[in-house]
Amino acid sequence: MRTKMKLISLLIFASLFTFVSHAFSADYWSYPLSPWSPVTRGFGIWVSGWGYHLGEDVVKPAYTIVKNARWGYVRHVAPHTKYGWVVVIESPREWETSTDPKTWKNPICHVYGHLRYDSYLAATKVKLNKLIDRGWIIGRLGTSSENGGYTPHLHFGARKGRYTSTWVYWGYSTSSSVLSQWYKPSSVINNY
Ligand SMILES: [Zn+2]
Repeated sequence: MRTKMKLISLLIFASLFTFVSHAFSADYWSYPLSPWSPVTRGFGIWVSGWGYHLGEDVVKPAYTIVKNARWGYVRHVAPHTKYGWVVVIESPREWETSTDPKTWKNPICHVYGHLRYDSYLAATKVKLNKLIDRGWIIGRLGTSSENGGYTPHLHFGARKGRYTSTWVYWGYSTSSSVLSQWYKPSSVINNY
């Protein structure tokens, strides 16, 4: 009888633990592509002629669906030469629960580059300053002709701080001080 009681309390403890760990860690971030790896170009590496890579690249077929990594506000949806359509989402860190961006102490802007223009998404979901949830579809990978001329891939970056209307969300920089303004995206997602 005592063994049975012990088993039951162990089961209760185990399920409580699963619930708590799910509620407080697993739900903060998720990768925009599934599966995420292999990372075909890592964060911070130096590419001759371009500079330090400010994000991580993952090669996938054109039209692969890209999902939002963390809830936040759409701050930028527009095309760029060599970068295709770009979406930038501003989110709070993991411990922030308010939906008021003014209260956020350490916001992060996550950047999705080399997408294709998708009029359905632009018209319905991925609208400027709209609050969107983690896992929402924010776009699809562009073909080579849509993404600036490259093998279809996602460039995923995570910049420290609030969204700035001054465009600083490029994929590369020759300045190491600019590199330090960025997180390694997979470390942000894995650590919290
Ligand atoms: Zn890249």
